[in-house]
Amino acid sequence: MVRKQIVAGNWKMNMDFDEGRDLAFSIIRKLGPLHSQVIFCPPFIHLNYLSVLTKGIANLSLGAQNCHQQNNGAYTGEVAASMLKSVGCEYVILGHSERREYFAEGDEILAQKVDVAIANDLIPIFCVGEKLEIREAGTHENTVEKQLKGGLFHLEKDLFSKVVVAYEPVWAIGTGKTASPQQVQEMHYFIRKAIANKYGKKIADMTSILYGGSVKPNNAKELFENSDVDGGLIGGAALKASDFIDIINSFPKD
Ligand code: PEP
Repeated sequence: MVRKQIVAGNWKMNMDFDEGRDLAFSIIRKLGPLHSQVIFCPPFIHLNYLSVLTKGIANLSLGAQNCHQQNNGAYTGEVAASMLKSVGCEYVILGHSERREYFAEGDEILAQKVDVAIANDLIPIFCVGEKLEIREAGTHENTVEKQLKGGLFHLEKDLFSKVVVAYEPVWAIGTGKTASPQQVQEMHYFIRKAIANKYGKKIADMTSILYGGSVKPNNAKELFENSDVDGGLIGGAALKASDFIDIINSFPKD
């Protein structure tokens, strides 16, 4: 069973209109045929024109960085999953540690967001990961298991099979500190085992599990080479065309 290999670029709250367009153009101009699924996850303002710009480019998709948990209504300042779908989004990042930390998104809201995303035919890229003190206390697997159970494991099997998981240790995000290939493989193996326990081996073997946390051109290959790592969720390095392309070119795995 071949899992989808994915490189997703999370632009976070960076890039105004012109900067974002220039970045996307620079990347697209230099892209060869894509052997993995590449996803641009820009701020909302870029989604509409990027869906036109990327249309027809095989294996290049768009993702949002968040959606609201309700379908529509009086939620000033929010964006609904159906709206994202209507501008050509195929993916949505949910449960990013910055959303958990700064916007108090916990298990219950995230589970609702997962449901509304799937109901609108968006693929959630569901992030899990522990803080430094949890890693140091050695309880990181418990924490990640709890996040999986709280936000994802309510799904029926057929719906869970649509989800992508991203392991992003909080201590490695934007810090320049990367988890070692061994730490990453151990956690990805643990996540796949937890999925297998809940949904069976076949579904677990089909689920793409991405690593995120200071992935750069000089470490992407050794991180992606791990047998349970199916790609990356890239923050800082997604903002520089040459870095992002080098990371994309770390695929296919040898
Ligand atoms: C992220 O924000 O998802 C991320 C992994 O950021 P960075 O690559 O900058 O650590």
